[in-house]
Amino acid sequence: MNSWIEIPKNSDFSIHNLPFGIFSANSNPKRVGIAIGSNIIDLVACNDLDIFKDLGINNKILENDFLNDFIGLGKNNTKKVREIIQMHLTDDSSPIKTNTSAIISMNEAELHLPVKVGDYTDFYSSIEHASNIGSMFRDPSNPLLPNWRHLPVGYHGRASSIIVSGVDIHRPIGQIMPPDADKPVFSSSKRMDFELEMGYIIGKNSSLGSCIKTDDADNYIFGKVLFNDWSARDIQKWEYVPLGPFLGKSFASSISPWVVTIEALENFRVAGPIQNPEVLDYLKFNGLKNYDINLSVSILPEKTNIETIVCESNFKYMYWNMNQQIAHHTINGCNLNIGDMMASGTISGKSEDSYGSMLELSWGGKKNIELNDGSSRTFIDDYDSVIMRGYCEKDNIRVGFGEVKSKLLPSI
Ligand code: MN
Repeated sequence: MNSWIEIPKNSDFSIHNLPFGIFSANSNPKRVGIAIGSNIIDLVACNDLDIFKDLGINNKILENDFLNDFIGLGKNNTKKVREIIQMHLTDDSSPIKTNTSAIISMNEAELHLPVKVGDYTDFYSSIEHASNIGSMFRDPSNPLLPNWRHLPVGYHGRASSIIVSGVDIHRPIGQIMPPDADKPVFSSSKRMDFELEMGYIIGKNSSLGSCIKTDDADNYIFGKVLFNDWSARDIQKWEYVPLGPFLGKSFASSISPWVVTIEALENFRVAGPIQNPEVLDYLKFNGLKNYDINLSVSILPEKTNIETIVCESNFKYMYWNMNQQIAHHTINGCNLNIGDMMASGTISGKSEDSYGSMLELSWGGKKNIELNDGSSRTFIDDYDSVIMRGYCEKDNIRVGFGEVKSKLLPSI
């Protein structure tokens, strides 16, 4: 498929991808755009050219602070919008080609949080990650808790502090119990960490009291983003018993600005790990429900500006898939809404260089991670940027997520 628009070789935003986001440029209000190469297609300008006329989309839906209303048009319509844009980008006589306001350079645009997140749920679905944490803090010979292989463990997170790539965060302050102390201290976190995760955005409302079956769950997934679930390990360690994560997690989670649709990922479906023991009926599923998405995490210290990849993992390692997470989430009648964010949990692989958090990479702070600039880390330092990237590639077709990048600043 050839496009008249220049797309750099190896661009994440190929003609096969066409992810949605919210951008602003040229002092125009925020609006829906589609990424292609190093450019953005302005969907308001496209609508003004009447290219979506069969869909009857009101400009109010496209000139919008968030994608939620657009997602609310339904998968049939949002799918058609991608197909129409793809057709126009491969058609030399498209009016988009000659309309200067329809194509904006990504360098000249500001990218915003793509969705208004209603509720956010974080799962714990990587068996390698759960096993590493269990080995470190409980029993290496029996690292998984008894429930782990029977249900996708999760907790309700904080939606208000989900931020877009490029927004810097401050090191959180809170209660910490120092080792061997008998009372907690009030301090800046000394163990700041990232969690390499992927988030998915719910694309369809379900009603209170109803359950979503694994076979129907694809219809409820709009698309995916990279997700850095920032974690203050020392705050988390002291506070989490017995109700789970709280302030050690809720200060920030960073996401990538472009939402890659589940349709664009169709060719990258793969089988997941064999689940043993067999799961209960409501968690059984048909077909390929995992995705082969290469993931990496880099640390970029401000002073030296030399980047180091500290982790390379893959979304395909996930033990529990998104369909099972959705079926489990709704099995009690809990409803889902458009714009809800579900995150995978830290995505670790089997090898030591595929662990998706500093907690695992440094094995609880015991092992130094050497960086290319000569410094070393056990956790994240002030003025480090953490950059996560992800892409799929098969038969020379690349569909990528770009990056989520955010810098850790000192405590306020
Ligand atoms: Mn997490």
